[in-house]
Amino acid sequence: MALLQISEPGQATAPHQHRLAAGIDLGTTNSLVASVRSGVADTLPDRDGEHLLPSVVRYGAGQAAQVGHAALAAAVNDPLNTIASVKRLMGRGIADIRHIGTELPYEFVTGSSAMPLLHTVAGDVSPVEVSAEILRNLKLRAEQTLGGELDGVVITVPAYFDEAQRQATKDAGRLAGLNVLRLLNEPTAAAVAYGLDKGSEGVIAIYDLGGGTFDISILRLNQGVFEVMSTAGDTALGGDDMDRAVASWIMAQAGIRDDAGRSVMRHLMQLARQAKEALTTEQQVTVQIPHGVDGQWSGVLTRDSFNALIRPLVDKSMGPCRRALRDAGVRVDEVQTVVMVGGSTRVPLVRERVADFFKAEPMVDIDPDKVVAVGAAIQADILAGNKPDDEMLLLDVIPLSLGLETMGGLTEKIIPRNTTIPTARAQEFTTFKDGQTAMSLHVVQGERELVDDCRSLARFELRDIPPMVAGAARIRVAFQVDADGLLSVTAEEQTQGVKSSIEIKPSYGLTDREIETMLKDSMAHALEDRDVRRLREEQVEADRVLEALHAAMASDGEQLLEVDERAAIDVAAAHLAEARAGTDYRAIKRAIEALEKASSGYVERRMNSSIRKAMAGHAIDEFSK
Ligand code: ADP
Ligand code: MG
Repeated sequence: MALLQISEPGQATAPHQHRLAAGIDLGTTNSLVASVRSGVADTLPDRDGEHLLPSVVRYGAGQAAQVGHAALAAAVNDPLNTIASVKRLMGRGIADIRHIGTELPYEFVTGSSAMPLLHTVAGDVSPVEVSAEILRNLKLRAEQTLGGELDGVVITVPAYFDEAQRQATKDAGRLAGLNVLRLLNEPTAAAVAYGLDKGSEGVIAIYDLGGGTFDISILRLNQGVFEVMSTAGDTALGGDDMDRAVASWIMAQAGIRDDAGRSVMRHLMQLARQAKEALTTEQQVTVQIPHGVDGQWSGVLTRDSFNALIRPLVDKSMGPCRRALRDAGVRVDEVQTVVMVGGSTRVPLVRERVADFFKAEPMVDIDPDKVVAVGAAIQADILAGNKPDDEMLLLDVIPLSLGLETMGGLTEKIIPRNTTIPTARAQEFTTFKDGQTAMSLHVVQGERELVDDCRSLARFELRDIPPMVAGAARIRVAFQVDADGLLSVTAEEQTQGVKSSIEIKPSYGLTDREIETMLKDSMAHALEDRDVRRLREEQVEADRVLEALHAAMASDGEQLLEVDERAAIDVAAAHLAEARAGTDYRAIKRAIEALEKASSGYVERRMNSSIRKAMAGHAIDEFSK
């Protein structure tokens, strides 16, 4: 507590205490934390002077998770316990993840919840927990640098993150012990960083090409206020795809097969990325990779060949640009400023194509990796109350329409996409049966007509509707979206005023209680989880052994097996099948060993026989070297 407060004459209030606030860019590939110090917003480095924290978390048995560069370095050798690009999984259900593709190398546990869990040696973890590890790391960095506890943070999210994804991000912040003042759309943050809000009127395009995602947003600046007019993008387009293109090129050149294994692939991806980043400033690079009998392959990749490799990817970003302009109702020549965001906009071909498309030189003065965090820091500083006079109004939009399910599994949109938030809209519905006293409401998000093609957000019921003839009741359903883009829905029967409401917790989001118990649980169940893992592993092994045996016996069991030997194998196989159905991993292990013993003579004879077959037709000395 201050012992002495000095007030300027005429100053009525006590001196304002500066609150520590930070902006966090929680990226797919890299994350950053920034803060306003002495009036200047800048990103904060870690102890080694690094500003970018790779969004990679590595779990180890019985130890704290590693985050950042150390985890990234371990990715090659420990791919299954090293989680990268977790942002892609945020707020997603199992079905979505299958949709994202087979590229993800992690083992998913499809347990009771619709939320995917990632299997690691430290137990099963949810994407929210993985993100919380990243946030915790940045929190610590900020608190050490700023010398105190953070009062609040602003975390940025892609403009088209839906409800579930926003909620999951907020949950991760809370799990990390952060006071999340607000979620802010990344393009809006970038515009703020450039101080475009202080400028004149005009249309601004924010082109954000990161590691895993592409985002294009059209903003209109009007009397010092931003309006996000439209957003579009591609959740599966970014620098990673360029890395893959280069990796494929290396594989083709070096003759590496695509079943080379996960660690080889990850190593290749790292090499590819280094080559790509070097080509931003160099005209050509030499790629070297340990491979084959000679131990080394090396080749040269020129800027021109690289451009040819990635041109289709860069072109792919132009579709969403056109769509965003169309949605915003502006022509390309009305765009006055183009802001470049994301590490991949350093690639010369990207800058060229964007300048071509918008017929304007894009803004690149602020480091494209840092610009979002810087904008978030400026916003956090204001929200924390450090600039009480500075009123900044930021308008964001709803990325996907919000609506209700109506009869026949159809969607009725209540708030169309690209509506600026905060917003509230209502619509009246009625009963369809005589005497109907309850109505179930299903809140959905998406652009499609059929509910099945949209994302289900929540279901709730309105009860105690006074019985009336069908169509007589008037039920007003109101949708309200707050500044974070989070939705609450209220249904009210108009004659009697019966009410029911729900704050949307997406189906695979977490409840407050779940978040609290999650951390405790993960510790308490560490042992149990390990046993579950062992059981699964033994079960997989049992299946493999049984399948191989059956296949072998079907092909040559008749010729190579004695009658009583076959009987012994059958008994051992039946035992294994029985153990496999149980939950004791040790029993499965023993049964596998017993079966291997019973079939050892047979296996040996098979090997000899196949060697004989292989040698048939060859001269003996070919093999006797
Ligand atoms: P995200 O928003 O997805 O976290 P970033 O904005 O940090 O991503 O961008 C990461 C991507 O930028 C990576 O694919 C990385 O390889 C790429 N990148 C970073 N620096 C360069 C560079 N100098 N040249 C080309 N690409 C780069
Ligand atoms: Mg980014």
